Amino acid sequence: MTRHNCPNCGAPIESTQCPYCGTVFYDFTVMDSETPTYIRMNWYGHQMVFRALMRSAEINMHSGGMFSPDDMDVDIEFTVLPDDDGVLMKRIELKGE
Ligand SMILES: [Zn+2]
Repeated sequence: MTRHNCPNCGAPIESTQCPYCGTVFYDFTVMDSETPTYIRMNWYGHQMVFRALMRSAEINMHSGGMFSPDDMDVDIEFTVLPDDDGVLMKRIELKGE
C-alpha cells in the first residue's frame, strides 16, 4: 500500500489505520467501477468478507454551507458478487490479527 500521512494527526501511515492516533482511513480512490474488490466487515459478531464492485460513490451537498454535519453526506454503494467458488459472503478467520 502506498505510504501516506494520517489526515487526523499527520503521522506517516502505511495501512488503513493510524498506529499513533487510531484514525481509520479509507481510500476509495483506489477503487473503480470495473475491478472487483474485497471488503471485510463486522456482521452480527463475525468478520465477513465479500467480493464487491463499487456501483456508485456520490458526495451530496444539501445547502450552500459545508460547516454543519447536515450539509453534506457521502453515499457509497457496492454490488456484491459471487467469489470464484460461487459463495457470496464468507466468514474468514484472518491470521495474525
Ligand atoms: Zn493519526
